[in-house]
Amino acid sequence: MVAAQLAQRGIRDRRVLAVMARVPREWFLPPHLHAEAYEDTPLPIGSGQTISQPYIVALMTAALAPRRRDRVLEIGTGSGYQAAILAHLARRVYTIERRPDLLVEAEERFRRLGLTNIETRLGDGAAGWPEEAPCDGILVTAAAPAVPPPLLAQLASGGRLVIPIGDLSMQELVIYERTPSGIEERRAGGVRFVPLISRLAFTEGDWG
Ligand code: SAM
Repeated sequence: MVAAQLAQRGIRDRRVLAVMARVPREWFLPPHLHAEAYEDTPLPIGSGQTISQPYIVALMTAALAPRRRDRVLEIGTGSGYQAAILAHLARRVYTIERRPDLLVEAEERFRRLGLTNIETRLGDGAAGWPEEAPCDGILVTAAAPAVPPPLLAQLASGGRLVIPIGDLSMQELVIYERTPSGIEERRAGGVRFVPLISRLAFTEGDWG
């Protein structure tokens, strides 16, 4: 997976490649999907949600570029796979999921893998995690029509926020960076995610 799907498609960050080789993706999937764990495709994890495609996990992690000392926030825990990857790269990971069934399963996986530097929260991630703000990096693994303002507000100086922005059918991966001169924005290609569901941040009209 690492050689054929990640390195060959342009993922250069060695730390990201090493961690993706080490974290067993099948542990984050239901047993009947274990045989497909290393295919470069998103897979269903129940409740109509998905574990992201390995290439997209690698792309978003490389765009976030977490350092050892960083505290990072993930919105959309899902299976817990992305949080587990981040937990090997950063000091502490805060992850928020709105579905209790998925969160309970992800917490059990973190326990079994001995990942003690992940803190979880059940709720609407569009509000961020104000008690732990500011965070050095914020990764949103669900699509939004626009950046929820609390997330940008909770981004530390020098920090990056990576989020798929677009409509329900297609989005672009956008990277916001808080620099001394303000927020800088760059784009990293097309992606397709399930929607970020937030009464707090959006109305139906926001999706266009
Ligand atoms: N990061 C996950 C993984 O590694 O398996 C994949 C995330 S999945 C593509 C998107 C997740 O975002 C779903 O589990 C969904 O329930 C969750 N979600 C959607 N809206 C949310 C919100 N407002 N706050 C927190 N989680 C949300």
